[in-house]
Amino acid sequence: MIKFENVSKYYDNGNKAVDSLNLTIKEGEFFVLIGPSGCGKTTTLKMINRLIDLSEGTIYLDGKKISEYNIHELRWNIGYVLQQIALFPHMTIEENIAIVPELKKWDKKKINNKITDLLESVGLEPEKYRHRKPSELSGGEQQRVGVVRALAADPNIILMDEPFSALDPISRKKLQQDMGKLKKKINKTIVFVTHDMQEALALGDRICIMQEGKIVQCDTPEAIIKNPKNDFVRNFFKSGNVYRTPLFESDYRVKDLIEEHLYENTDDKEDTNCVNTEESLENLFSLLTKEKSIKIEQNGRFIGTLNMEHLVKFVANKLEKDGEI
Ligand code: ADP
Ligand code: MG
Repeated sequence: MIKFENVSKYYDNGNKAVDSLNLTIKEGEFFVLIGPSGCGKTTTLKMINRLIDLSEGTIYLDGKKISEYNIHELRWNIGYVLQQIALFPHMTIEENIAIVPELKKWDKKKINNKITDLLESVGLEPEKYRHRKPSELSGGEQQRVGVVRALAADPNIILMDEPFSALDPISRKKLQQDMGKLKKKINKTIVFVTHDMQEALALGDRICIMQEGKIVQCDTPEAIIKNPKNDFVRNFFKSGNVYRTPLFESDYRVKDLIEEHLYENTDDKEDTNCVNTEESLENLFSLLTKEKSIKIEQNGRFIGTLNMEHLVKFVANKLEKDGEI
């Protein structure tokens, strides 16, 4: 668990980058920090592993002040992925990944097995890639290695600062999808910085929206979609200059989710509510706040079930494709 208590950061030039932050990030949570450039995301992230010293307040890691940790111990137990991954150019992929496990004095076999496992989990064939140099990889592949390197020494926490934003849209989407799968598999606490609401909705368990060093809204994707706190939050869903409440002022219906295959084919005839494919998303949403899944009916026939994750994914897809919903 990471806890910020009244944390502020002033830079030497008097700039207040982070302003009295109070925040608790839970164990195993995928926590997204989002906001426009300069709002204090990177500063917030770097204070966690003490790459930046805080000016006021306290950050606790598992109940202990971060200032009381041995700095190496702290850094080794916190993986860090940057926008532009800095792999060492003269080292092979394998050597790059092994740096922290070697510092931790793991034995060779354990390190090798871990590298094989992790490369596989991000879709890089281990035997093909482990002996290559970074320059022999595409940008997307290098960024995957960056993720692997952050995970290699089994840290409890991973900090990711706009890790996919320098990639082309296709690599970016692919890496997002892999990250979605990986997060379920590894079950680590991940603090993820982005300025992209689509990415935040696709990945976050909770999303914290920042503005000028302060938190504007911090909640689940569902809650933010349903009740954006103000125009600033709505702005992240905006199209042109028109501010809209994202989900409920749209004409989308349940059938639009079905068209995008966002439902589960299941024989489950559990006693849940049932909606027709012509039902509005607003009604679907309110049903899903009461029940975990809802049956869908098309022309009087049961075709599958929908849950909140499907609905959030739909919104994320729409944001990506149309820039609006
Ligand atoms: P973000 O990651 O959200 O873009 P940052 O945390 O990098 O924002 O920056 C927050 C604010 O602090 C910005 O106004 C930025 O200009 C300022 N800032 C960041 N780093 C420094 C620094 N080393 N010295 C002075 N001001 C800084
Ligand atoms: Mg930044």
